[in-house]
Amino acid sequence: MAEKSLVERDQAVIWHPYTQMHKAAPPIPIVRGEGVYLIAEDGTKFIDAISSWWVNIHGHSHPYIAEKVAEQLRTLEHVIFAGFTHPSAVELAERLIAILPNNQKRVFYSDNGSTAVEVALKMCLQYWSNVEQPRTKVLAFHGSYHGDTFGAMAVSARSSFTRPFEKLLFEVEFIDLPNATNISALKEQLSDLAPELAAFIFEPLVQGASGMNMYEAKYLDELLEHCKKEGVLTIADEVMTGFGRTGKLFASNHLYEQPDVMCFSKGITGGTMALGLTTCTSRIYDAFLSEDKMKTLFHGHSFTANPVTCSAALASLDLLLKPETLNDIERIADQHRQFALSISGHQKIRNLRQTGTILAVEWETGNNTSYFNSLRDDLYNFFLGEGIILRPLGNIVYIMPPYCITNAQLGCIYKQIIKALEKF
Ligand code: PMP
Repeated sequence: MAEKSLVERDQAVIWHPYTQMHKAAPPIPIVRGEGVYLIAEDGTKFIDAISSWWVNIHGHSHPYIAEKVAEQLRTLEHVIFAGFTHPSAVELAERLIAILPNNQKRVFYSDNGSTAVEVALKMCLQYWSNVEQPRTKVLAFHGSYHGDTFGAMAVSARSSFTRPFEKLLFEVEFIDLPNATNISALKEQLSDLAPELAAFIFEPLVQGASGMNMYEAKYLDELLEHCKKEGVLTIADEVMTGFGRTGKLFASNHLYEQPDVMCFSKGITGGTMALGLTTCTSRIYDAFLSEDKMKTLFHGHSFTANPVTCSAALASLDLLLKPETLNDIERIADQHRQFALSISGHQKIRNLRQTGTILAVEWETGNNTSYFNSLRDDLYNFFLGEGIILRPLGNIVYIMPPYCITNAQLGCIYKQIIKALEKF
């Protein structure tokens, strides 16, 4: 009997994420990663233009990260993080605190973006419980996405993704993204809700999953300032925007106001391993210090602060802070700007937007803007056929590449986007 292929074996036992398995196209078997490329079993090379769900920042199988991870694996692979510590976790926390907004003083480890958000929500909700003031509601933006666990879903926009669970999600107030026209009204809305609001959670400058929606730092600043005035804690979910994506190390670096809590994951390990991290101010941390054991933050995961993931993050940070990488971030932003300029005004484009290394091209589709429209699949398959992984969000094609991508490789992507604009 012929040996089964990797795809056949996959199809017999695996349930893939965000995939309707009923008639799913066979998954593409990837056997190697090298820089910006993912290489399939049959030798086909794909440019990973979306950084494998936005996680990869230095390219695949980076030798420096691999070396540091291997070293850590041979020294200490894991240790329980309650009652114990280890050098990589401490060094990573120290180094992050040194580069985060200067009000961030404590690091809490978890293991993905959703758990980083869960921890942030629990920190804020329990803060109010610990200080014995009854604030239990959360404020978020329409169109927000903060993850797939229940708390993270609750603070995300209600959508097709959350529909089966809607009755089980806790109540959240949603407001529009701020702009010059609505900012005063939003502040009034915020003031009305404030007495009950424990926290306001937001994706700073760019809402990822809902379509790379971008908004201006100055209006977010106004909202954050208003939250501070009204005593509402603020949570910057930098799971996607962190580690250079927006042109600065963190999206919060574009702001004057500093959030009380910050969430990180994805790019933190260069995309090598799963790590979540939530940071907070001393004010929040101090509210959990008590003789009363009930004021403890009762949260933790088996792999909290896993040494191997921490060492991947340390290695990634070494690479990120190199002047060459910071130049690459600027170079990519510059290339995007030039490309956007060259196609602006194209009749098929409804909107073109860019923040740092993220460029989004929104197709004109008349009234059909559904995530599930067929244009999305046509575009996805077209780009795959050209050896480029771009995973449109409905009618929105976006590029979010690893920072090692060359101008020539970016040029290939741009060329295919122009072709796609002619074709679809
Ligand atoms: N927050 C934001 C802003 C995200 O973009 C994501 C993931 N796309 C998450 C949280 C959840 O992260 P994870 O998929 O690692 O759970």
